[in-house]
Amino acid sequence: MSIAVCPGSFDPITFGHLDIVRRAARLFEVVVVGVARNASKSALLTPDERIEVVRGALAEDPDLAAVRVEPVPGLLVEFCRQVGASAVVKGLRGGADFDGEHPMALMNRHLSGVETVFLPAEQRYAHVASSLVKDIARYGGPIDDLVPPAAAEAVRAAVAHRA
Ligand code: ADP
Repeated sequence: MSIAVCPGSFDPITFGHLDIVRRAARLFEVVVVGVARNASKSALLTPDERIEVVRGALAEDPDLAAVRVEPVPGLLVEFCRQVGASAVVKGLRGGADFDGEHPMALMNRHLSGVETVFLPAEQRYAHVASSLVKDIARYGGPIDDLVPPAAAEAVRAAVAHRA
């Protein structure tokens, strides 16, 4: 059985992330979305909120109902071993993403043999980043065409109560 992990912080999940998960689900028999718990200090949503929002977003898409969502408590390669994944799937928006991802892909293969599959970002989402979504929301701007409804709601609530 071919199993892949789509990892990230998903603070919040965006339509760009969802596109990568959808495409990974066409390539692999089982896809597990791994939500990193070691969020940076700038995380807006708590780890539990991020997981809940990812689950809500996947539930809105019938093609993604079978995709599992789990926290990644430590090293990604250890998580891959636990779920039996032979590959990590990551989206690349451009050269900057590649520069960041390339050493991680090499290191993960060094550590465990797990391969990384890079998918080029869908053009219409290539400018979409969680950090920009949060910036827009903090200034009261529109985010509904960038993130799924569950994410927009959670971000707006967090910005209103935690800003
Ligand atoms: P991290 O927090 O690890 O920097 P994210 O959680 O934002 O990463 O994203 C996880 C993965 O999704 C990364 O591989 C990133 O390149 C990819 N990604 C983020 N935004 C998009 C997008 N709009 N289109 C395609 N891939 C994306």
